[in-house]
Amino acid sequence: MTLHLSGISKAFDGTDVLRDVALDVADSTRLALVGSSGSGKSTLLRLIAGFERPDAGTISLDGRELSGPRSAVPAHRRGIGYVAQDGALFPHLSVARNIAFGLPRSDRTGARVQELMELASLDPALTARMPHELSGGQQQRVALARALAQRPGVILLDEPFSALDTGLRAHTRSAVIDVLERSGVTAVLVTHDQEEALSFGQQVGVLAGGTLVQAGEPSAVFDAPIDTAVAAFLGEVVVVAAERAGDAVDCAFGRLPVRHDLSHGADRFVAMLRPDQLRVDPATDGDARVLDIRTTGAVAELTLRLGAVEVTHRVPGRAAARFTVGSRAHVVVDGGAVLYPVGSPREG
Ligand code: ADP
Ligand code: MG
Repeated sequence: MTLHLSGISKAFDGTDVLRDVALDVADSTRLALVGSSGSGKSTLLRLIAGFERPDAGTISLDGRELSGPRSAVPAHRRGIGYVAQDGALFPHLSVARNIAFGLPRSDRTGARVQELMELASLDPALTARMPHELSGGQQQRVALARALAQRPGVILLDEPFSALDTGLRAHTRSAVIDVLERSGVTAVLVTHDQEEALSFGQQVGVLAGGTLVQAGEPSAVFDAPIDTAVAAFLGEVVVVAAERAGDAVDCAFGRLPVRHDLSHGADRFVAMLRPDQLRVDPATDGDARVLDIRTTGAVAELTLRLGAVEVTHRVPGRAAARFTVGSRAHVVVDGGAVLYPVGSPREG
């Protein structure tokens, strides 16, 4: 189902948490919203689910208004599933009974529970287990199966992987994506983890200061963040002063092509690169100097000085032996820079 939000605002105790948020999530697609802690992610999901009422704005599902100036459909009538951050399974109920809890009484048959377990890629052998006998990833999939039991049009996922350790997280994430695709449900996930947002969402939105500052396809948002703050929030950045040279710019890395010009015609601007655009080779005539080398097993971090700029660059641990502190290096930049005005309003 299509989820539509417009003009959504919410304050608690006179403090704005969300301001004028608009969102469209197309049928059977996944949106990931990313924002730092306290940016209003859970509040937004709770408004969509119907656990809280917005101060302004409307929320509708396939054109049916759920929340607006004249409407407030109660949570249990919205056809929206919600998976809380900790999964929130009933600790005293088995896996099967947790899942059946989401079903209408007439539908609480073994067959439907089995079907949901299969949908959530849960081994039938787990049916009689209690929640504490499951791994974190299994608990999350039980919570998802329980939320899908009511065949919701939209499912909301509040940081569903944050309690899992790194190895399990990526695995559970792809399992959950499979489940959502198989069930054809529209999904909104919120997270503070940018990698998670970029890999989960077919669309990504960035929440900051109570507003949705940017939304789009993950690669588009990552490649052309609207300002340096969003750029740095989404991944590591190298930001250097730059000057225009025709269609290109001159900076500490030499003359670079421009990938996206978001400087809005400013006289003073900076060039943003991602560290993975840099290639560094030892070279006696290079214009960079190696200031420091730190090796941590598989990876080594080189600190380099180019003119007035210091950058940290990662190379495979084995490659670090090619460099010595104090020696010169040659830096090549793959691809172009993104330009931003100096001192843009949200910078810093
Ligand atoms: P996030 O999920 O992004 O970490 P939240 O939506 O939980 O952020 O919270 C955003 C802000 O709103 C926080 O400052 C939080 O303290 C405040 N807040 C959330 N819910 C309530 C509430 N029920 N009453 C008062 N303040 C709240
Ligand atoms: Mg939260």
